[in-house]
Amino acid sequence: MNDYPPEYDNEDPDNRYFAQAFPDADSPAELYRQVYKYTDCGAYLSVQIQYYKTIEPDGFNEFPDEQLVSEWVNCDELRRFGTWKEMDQQGVLVTALLVGSIVEGVDYGTDNIEVVADQTEEDPSDYRTRFDTALSEVEREAESIWNDTHGCESCKAHWVDEGINLDGEMTPIWFDCPDCQGSGVII
Ligand SMILES: [Zn+2]
Repeated sequence: MNDYPPEYDNEDPDNRYFAQAFPDADSPAELYRQVYKYTDCGAYLSVQIQYYKTIEPDGFNEFPDEQLVSEWVNCDELRRFGTWKEMDQQGVLVTALLVGSIVEGVDYGTDNIEVVADQTEEDPSDYRTRFDTALSEVEREAESIWNDTHGCESCKAHWVDEGINLDGEMTPIWFDCPDCQGSGVII
């Protein structure tokens, strides 16, 4: 990333870290697009940012002041930032990424997994490995929720025949089901 201005202070954490960790994604919006597209469950991505906010003078402070604030930005809202480099130019630092997924037809989703960046302690590639592991975990969890809840009518009849009481519960998929081929149905 040698297109950074030379006066940039290398001692301070900056978003180059993420540009290095995710060489295929030049921005958080692009990273979200990839996360959504390349997971079966269509996972979401939230990004925690940190920046200095100017506090206007008021009855207590005579002069404008700066306060470090932190907030989460979700999915499509990430488009407002542009690239990692542009975020650096705006003075906005990414401090953590978070992934999770909803599951269609169910009113709960997977756990959210937060991957906090520690730029002084961890190489970008190791951060990337932790991020990918978190994303795989979300996929596993989403699939498991799907399998527990998306059985079709034939799956249901099978469990009833087996003497399993589904009383009020959602129907798990029967993997040998001839009707849905063990893939379940959209509920
Ligand atoms: Zn079935």
